[in-house]
Amino acid sequence: MPSFIPPSHPRYESLMTREKLVEGFRAGIVVPEGLIAHGRGEAFDYILGETSRDFAIEAAKVAAAMMLAARRPVISVNGNAAALAAEKLAELSRVTGAPLEVNLFHWSRERADRIKKWLERFDCEVLAEGDAEIEGIEHCRRIVDSRGILVADVVLVALEDGDRCEVLRRVGKKVIAIDLNPLSRTAQMADVTVVDNVTRAIPNIVKFAREMKELSREELEEIFKGYDNGKILKRALEAIREYLTSKSLEASRFQRS
Ligand code: ATP
Ligand code: MG
Repeated sequence: MPSFIPPSHPRYESLMTREKLVEGFRAGIVVPEGLIAHGRGEAFDYILGETSRDFAIEAAKVAAAMMLAARRPVISVNGNAAALAAEKLAELSRVTGAPLEVNLFHWSRERADRIKKWLERFDCEVLAEGDAEIEGIEHCRRIVDSRGILVADVVLVALEDGDRCEVLRRVGKKVIAIDLNPLSRTAQMADVTVVDNVTRAIPNIVKFAREMKELSREELEEIFKGYDNGKILKRALEAIREYLTSKSLEASRFQRS
């Protein structure tokens, strides 16, 4: 039975997000390690103010333009992403023409099939053959679909592992990452990093993709030409620093009163 969380609770959104992961865990979509990974993400979300910041919105726009301009874009989905944002991921797939591909660190045929079915409820194409491998990765994230990540030019990844992000780039793919931790290897390795919660980042990318759907390739390229991911990460880190500074000032005022 899911817990009852009153909408008036000050941490309602955050608690509901946890409930979705627990539901995914019970359905065999999310692994226990995924719950821990979410905890790391939550901690960063907290010190980013739990909202889509300007640098995340800018990166989301660039991500949408890159996906629309790509020849073979693919959206890589793991258990947490499926539990948190299945419906929006399906919508992004329809708007950009990028299929969803199930890609798991803790891979099993059964789990991959379960996630495929979970996503297909929302009317989208899901690749989960696991009939190819990316060289240079030893863990299960190497298992990909020969029609998807293997031949993709642009791959959007959420809650990615740093190792694979690095290898995807090495084999010539453009990587768009959604990662709340601007210090993770994934965030630092990706071509575009949306430092935001997947629950907000995916809807933002969908919105931009809808707005830009009719643009020509040249117009789309204009949007991501000159994009500098290092500057985006720097702004994310500065936002965290400013958030913490303002909180420390509040705390010192509290001490004196
Ligand atoms: P890396 O391998 O990239 O160095 P890591 O080892 O620190 O990262 P992983 O467990 O490999 O972490 O990946 C989980 C990543 O997903 C973390 O960086 C975490 O901040 C991020 N994350 C967790 N939950 C969310 C979420 N809901 N939205 C966005 N990012 C999230
Ligand atoms: Mg990792």
